Amino acid sequence: MSVVKNPGSASKWYLPGITIGLVSTFSTMIKNLFGRNKMITLNYPEEKYEYGPRFKGNHILTVKKDGSLRCTACMLCATNCPAQCIKIHAAEHNDPTVEKYPISYEIDILRCVFCGYCEEACPVDAIRMGPEWQTPALSGSNFTYDIRYLAYRPNLKGGIQSRLDDEERHKVGI
Ligand code: SF4
Ligand code: SF4
Repeated sequence: MSVVKNPGSASKWYLPGITIGLVSTFSTMIKNLFGRNKMITLNYPEEKYEYGPRFKGNHILTVKKDGSLRCTACMLCATNCPAQCIKIHAAEHNDPTVEKYPISYEIDILRCVFCGYCEEACPVDAIRMGPEWQTPALSGSNFTYDIRYLAYRPNLKGGIQSRLDDEERHKVGI
């Protein structure tokens, strides 16, 4: 049972609380003005935080040496995705040594929870989560990332090559 006590006579006046709050605010402001190096906040967007190499940000579809997609449309990433935000349409490849390839690969980034399961599930290092974490866009923008964005967006500079080169791929029998 909670008992509501009558407020004491001192707490009826807000002045002490307001004064303490203002002193705290102004002392922090003065400290930050004269000791900017010690500030624990960043002046975003001019300053951006550098996350470690294990950070799981926006997805990247990796490419082979010839620039084509590494993905074999095996659907393991889509099957493992808890948010069910990956959609893949597979097609037969002209090359008989390649079983399938994705004619479309889409991630609905607004549903993604950035868990990394897609990256973990992929047997051929075809999808990775990179260092980019900003997904801002204007209202009405398309938040479904397609192959063009996932593999060839300008900041990937022609695509990120898969760690699994062809020689290794044959060795592991994929
Ligand atoms: S990070 Fe998780 S939620 Fe996002 S696409 Fe991959 S598996 Fe799905
Ligand atoms: S990204 Fe990897 S797991 Fe997903 S369909 Fe392509 S090869 Fe399979």
